[in-house]
Amino acid sequence: MERPAFDAIIVGAGFAGLYMLHRLRRMGFRALVLEAGSGVGGTWYWNRYPGARCDIESMQYSYQFDEALQQEWDWTERYAAQPEILRYAEHVAERFDLKRDIRFDARVTSAVFDEAAAEWIVTTEAGDPLRAGFVIMATGCISTANTPAFPSGDNFAGVRYHTGRWPHEKVSFKDKRVGVIGTGSSAVQAIPLIAEEADHLTVFQRTANYSVPAHNGPLDPEVQRRIKADYPALRQRASKTRACIDLVFGTKKALEVSAEERQREYEARWAMGGFGFTGAFADIPLDLEANRTVQDFIRGKIREIVHDPEIAQRLSPTNTFGCKRLCVDTNYFATYNRPNVTLVDVSATPIEALTSSGVKVGGRDYALDALVFATGFDAMTGTLNRIDIRGRDGAKLKDKWEDGPRTYLGLGMAGFPNLFTVTGPGSPSVLTNMLPTIEQHVEWIADCLAHLRSNGFRTIEAAREAEDAWVDHTAEVAGTTLRVTCNSWYLGSNIAGKPRVFMPYVGGFPAYVQKCQEVVAKGYDGFRLS
Ligand code: NAP
Repeated sequence: MERPAFDAIIVGAGFAGLYMLHRLRRMGFRALVLEAGSGVGGTWYWNRYPGARCDIESMQYSYQFDEALQQEWDWTERYAAQPEILRYAEHVAERFDLKRDIRFDARVTSAVFDEAAAEWIVTTEAGDPLRAGFVIMATGCISTANTPAFPSGDNFAGVRYHTGRWPHEKVSFKDKRVGVIGTGSSAVQAIPLIAEEADHLTVFQRTANYSVPAHNGPLDPEVQRRIKADYPALRQRASKTRACIDLVFGTKKALEVSAEERQREYEARWAMGGFGFTGAFADIPLDLEANRTVQDFIRGKIREIVHDPEIAQRLSPTNTFGCKRLCVDTNYFATYNRPNVTLVDVSATPIEALTSSGVKVGGRDYALDALVFATGFDAMTGTLNRIDIRGRDGAKLKDKWEDGPRTYLGLGMAGFPNLFTVTGPGSPSVLTNMLPTIEQHVEWIADCLAHLRSNGFRTIEAAREAEDAWVDHTAEVAGTTLRVTCNSWYLGSNIAGKPRVFMPYVGGFPAYVQKCQEVVAKGYDGFRLS
């Protein structure tokens, strides 16, 4: 039978797509990447808002597959800012000569499985259908920006931005009255910098969020040298933690220690900065009473930082800690001490409309020259559902996922042979440090394709029973945590009409990796190979 033009088409040139391409090419596969943007970097290509940086430490938010790469690349800050991460993605693309197999400005609109030929037909906005034996969706978990609709419409005539679609040229807010809608991770990073530049900043907050200080700064060369002296050891330690981050996850329970010990631990973690805070006590994600101790601690910190008690109160979250994603900030709460910043609570009284001159809340107009939507993303399923993906018998993935995503291990789907998702729903993905978990998926998929090739198989497809069992298991594990007790994008509740399903796998990276390895050891257990 004639071979298709490509062995594999990879959709997306972010960190997942770049490594997938490199890996497949090294194995002698003819692979092509289709990328909607004009450059590599994925998330870091699009999210260029002021203050954008990764809140996983740079020494960990980086590839480990190539020892020379991780030795030679020097990070400048404890947490790398977006321009530096984008330079890193560019460097990787150049270093491994990847761009010759990437088509930019090529947004994929459909992927249709041709059963007779056992091939995928992939079409881009440019229209040209391309054929490949396999399709690998490296489309990112948080890549489709969400701009909410407002009950009485949107006629805003000023300049508007979305944090996830920021212009490439410098945006100046000097002398401008700026509004920010949202107080999630993106807003928490952008607000302090916009406040420094704008004439006036008005923040529209629907849900107050927990945020801990980053304590960012230049990366100590000695720390960098020490880590590089035995980089694999750090990576190994990270891989043993649930979030695949080298952090000390406490094994003690918050409710089993004295109030003084708890306070000491929280203070120490607060002083350390960043996600280390989430590892203070083992029962925080599971037990509401334990969780309340950390809630109280952070609310206390907010009261210490914010001078006006009423504003401090408004900024104090009341939901479960860790239910929505924890934010990591630099000067976020202190920004509300500035005279040019106004906090508008839109929880009880939602935004009614965007008028031509600003934002209308509770009958009052807030006049603005520029409006920043920090309103998040249609996460995990949004990007895939916007591509017309059709598997066996022309069945649409969107229909299959009508009541929530269904995958086997977040890697494959019943009814969709030879289609893989990197960090798809049902995998730990967004609950982890994405770089190593991307690598784990890429390597699993690459090994799988090598296995198919060497054993003369043309197709692989998740079995429905295996998929059903995995979906049930994913829901069951999520149900044992407090993560399902609030509204969050993990549950799809930020998007009108989206089914309420906890989408990532919360059972932790080590358990997940073990399951993936067992599946392989048992001859791709739960998949059908033909
Ligand atoms: P997000 O966490 O979903 O936050 C969106 C914000 O917009 C929320 O405060 C939300 O309020 C608000 N909002 C949405 N619709 C609204 C409406 N109609 N009226 C008023 N407020 C509205 O989005 P994000 O901040 O872009 O972050 C998304 C994820 O990206 C993060 O959780 C994180 O995983 C990742 N991220 C990471 C970093 C980093 O590494 N530092 C930085 C940025 C983003 P509600 O909470 O009430 O829905």
